[in-house]
Amino acid sequence: MSGFDILAARPIWNRNGRVNFNLGNGRTRKFLSYYKPYQRLFWADMACALVVSVTTLLIPLCANFITKNVLASDGADTVNRIWGMGAVMLGLVLIHTLANMFVAYQGHMMGAKMEHDMRHELFEHYQKLSFAFYDEQKVGQLMTRLTNDSFDLAELFHHGPEDIVISSLNFIGAFAILVSINARLALIVFLFLPIMAVYAFYFNKQMKAALRRSHDRIGDINSQVEDSLAGIRVVKSFTNERVEARKFAGENGRFLQSRQDTYLSETYFYEGLVAFTQLMTIAVIVFGGLTIVQGTLDLPELITFLLCVAILIEPIRRYGNFTRLYQEGIAGFERFMEVLEVQPDIQDAENAIEPKIIQGNISFQNVSFQYRQDSGHVFNNLSLDIKAGEFVALVGSSGIGKTTLCSLIPRFYEVNAGEIRLDGTNIKEIRLEALRRNIGLVQQDVYLFAGTVADNIRYGNVNASDAEIVTAAKKANAHAFVMALPNGYDTDIGQRGVKLSGGQKQRLSIARVFLKDPPVLIFDEATSALDNESEKAIQASLEQLANNRTTIVIAHRLTTVRNAQRIVVLTEEGIDEQGTHEELVAAGGTYANLYNMQLSL
Ligand code: ADP
Ligand code: MG
Repeated sequence: MSGFDILAARPIWNRNGRVNFNLGNGRTRKFLSYYKPYQRLFWADMACALVVSVTTLLIPLCANFITKNVLASDGADTVNRIWGMGAVMLGLVLIHTLANMFVAYQGHMMGAKMEHDMRHELFEHYQKLSFAFYDEQKVGQLMTRLTNDSFDLAELFHHGPEDIVISSLNFIGAFAILVSINARLALIVFLFLPIMAVYAFYFNKQMKAALRRSHDRIGDINSQVEDSLAGIRVVKSFTNERVEARKFAGENGRFLQSRQDTYLSETYFYEGLVAFTQLMTIAVIVFGGLTIVQGTLDLPELITFLLCVAILIEPIRRYGNFTRLYQEGIAGFERFMEVLEVQPDIQDAENAIEPKIIQGNISFQNVSFQYRQDSGHVFNNLSLDIKAGEFVALVGSSGIGKTTLCSLIPRFYEVNAGEIRLDGTNIKEIRLEALRRNIGLVQQDVYLFAGTVADNIRYGNVNASDAEIVTAAKKANAHAFVMALPNGYDTDIGQRGVKLSGGQKQRLSIARVFLKDPPVLIFDEATSALDNESEKAIQASLEQLANNRTTIVIAHRLTTVRNAQRIVVLTEEGIDEQGTHEELVAAGGTYANLYNMQLSL
């Protein structure tokens, strides 16, 4: 089974909105698991939230006490009691403030730490996913999942539980006080709640969908920017700045549209709830006034009642806030989990072995491969034996599958049928790291990382000393040009090595492989894009590198593979013929035709 099957079942591929918004059981558990390392901080945070909520409720009760005493004034005693209660309230405010500060600082930090952990986990996961995954993905979307999406989560992580504790306690407490003061008046308040619940439910759903769209759109924007900027040199050479700007404007507009939907639904949701609470206050004032006239309520009670209604409004507001946070966070979490749940399709087998020494016998046995189930086979039933230390050239027309054949050896892709053996062991039974450590790959398009020359060579072996780096560079014919750079080995080479020529980049990539020193070497059109002089220099280092290693060379110019011990010719039907240059020319087959054609050019 190719990696594609596993990926195809994932909802990230589902761009038509068929995404499930409710967290499944596994995801809920996963969500909660991020709290685990911060349990103590979490409970301290909750305790402070509890204190905040209790002190909030106590203050109107104190106010009630004071107003009652003012009305029933009986001299000096009352004055003292008012002072005393004032002091109590001051104390309460102090406690309230301290608890609130803890929640605001430590609570936020807890969320940030959890976000940090998630980001770390996702990045490590990215490193494990295979070529097949990245073939289908946009880098910008993957980056957005790592940055924007997880930030929304940090907020939810800490405000979520806190808001639930504070608002439900305040709500129940305020309601109990209301009922104890005047049950009939409390009933009026209570009547509002079911209406508000239905209202909130409806707009909540709209908000959810809009938020998810907006998260996807920001990912699209990032992908677009990433693509345009990475290709900025092509853009400029074709003077297609306006085309890129138009593409960007399209994405930008779609994002704006999704923001509009989000704000609209948020406005309805949030402001609607606020309006309901105001209606509630008005109803209490009107009906409270009437009740006072009837004589079943006194003024201090109405004041306390109104203060409690204000407290009741607070949890409703908080609930609105929480819902928005929750939806934003969950939209991010869903996107996060979609990627995290993609199983790396190429992994170590359980009993994978780590061979001590690799000689470099490579054997393809009846290998069939296709990139995707809906595309044709690149190989069908292909068999090929390469002996340790042999120098084999692979030739064939462009697109025939030479690169593909080579990327199967380090298991960048998994074969669909048959097997590939390294020293007699199926590569699926060798630990991936051991396998790849023993294969050196030099390709036509060199990827260099931002950093210095030395950093980039050291990529071949992160433990290499400076002296080893220089030796590798010398073997790769790179030392001379590196020394001519302004800062020698410490010269910064710019993003992707833009400050170097093609031949220079290629020599650095060869130095990397010298440092890695693998028993198996694959050279995939490494010199095809270079001028004659660079090609000769690289050809020389290649021949040195190939000494005592199994080497597979793919070359476009047949003159460069004349010296190969064996030339393997690939055609649509698989391996068409193989032999030395002289044998194949004498045979007068495909190779002879290709060779004569190139000679006559
Ligand atoms: P060559 O190196 O001989 O020029 P390749 O091995 O690169 O050819 O490509 C062989 C075939 O596989 C081509 O038809 C190409 O379009 C297809 N192909 C190459 N890479 C991928 C990929 N990552 N996903 C899907 N198809 C691919
Ligand atoms: Mg190729």
